[in-house]
Amino acid sequence: MPLPVFTHPACLAHDTGPGHAERPQRLQAVVDALRAQFDDLDWREAPRATRGQLLRVHSGELLHTVLETRPAERIHLDPDTVLSPESAESALRTAGAAVAAVDCVLAGETRTAFCAVRPPGHHATASQAMGFCLFNGVAVAAAHALEHHGLARVSIVDFDVHHGNGTQAIFQSEPRVQYLSSHQMPLYPDTGHPDERGVGNILNAALAPGEGSEGFRATWRDRLLPAIEAFAPQLLLVSAGFDAHWRDPLAQVQLVADDYAWLTGELRTLAETHAQGRLVSVLEGGYDLQALGECSVAHVAALRT
Ligand SMILES: [Zn+2]
Repeated sequence: MPLPVFTHPACLAHDTGPGHAERPQRLQAVVDALRAQFDDLDWREAPRATRGQLLRVHSGELLHTVLETRPAERIHLDPDTVLSPESAESALRTAGAAVAAVDCVLAGETRTAFCAVRPPGHHATASQAMGFCLFNGVAVAAAHALEHHGLARVSIVDFDVHHGNGTQAIFQSEPRVQYLSSHQMPLYPDTGHPDERGVGNILNAALAPGEGSEGFRATWRDRLLPAIEAFAPQLLLVSAGFDAHWRDPLAQVQLVADDYAWLTGELRTLAETHAQGRLVSVLEGGYDLQALGECSVAHVAALRT
């Protein structure tokens, strides 16, 4: 079965302005690299998330800000986070991609799916867009898996180099969702200390600047993957940011593309054991175009086998 890849042209239209790291070329680099490498991907147009799906995790106030402001030109929601005339549609398609990918794997159409979307989502909290993120697509997808599909255990695996403060905050009192993150500390947003444990469902692992492949793999092998094994999720969701790569300008963890292939393979093994293989991955960060292309190819290669 070809791997479904959910994307939408609107995700390229979210315009963050000149010099912004989270730029449309990021997604174009991912799409171009995947198209060049694989001729058997099942490209699908992402639907819009519905208000009801978004309201499972986000406040009405945030929906109003993102969807109803409709600025005539770019405005800043904070120093990092931009709303352009096209952003509402981008945000709806990004969250909608994650929901559609969950529907796809839970219907048994395929075991895995990838969402090639932007803006990223894991910093967005219930009520606040921040850190380049408008809606938290992975969180919306997890809530959909719980509330629409009736799952009892969903793991969110976040290997973006930044801590997914928004995802953690949304689910820190929700024992049906496990959130696991490896991230550089110190680094934006300065959350994700290992003593932040939620209701026992949060597991944060700090990586040092210069950590490198060996430390990254040991962190996952020895601490994070065994916790997934113990939780036995019925679905794995992945916040797939590739900004721990050595080329990335925003962090210094110094990974190589093969590290993402390795971790993706480990996650697939866990999904096969506990979740009937069901794994949905959603693009988060990654700010070097060449690294984004190489890492997304490595990740998708491991998702499609
Ligand atoms: Zn990041």
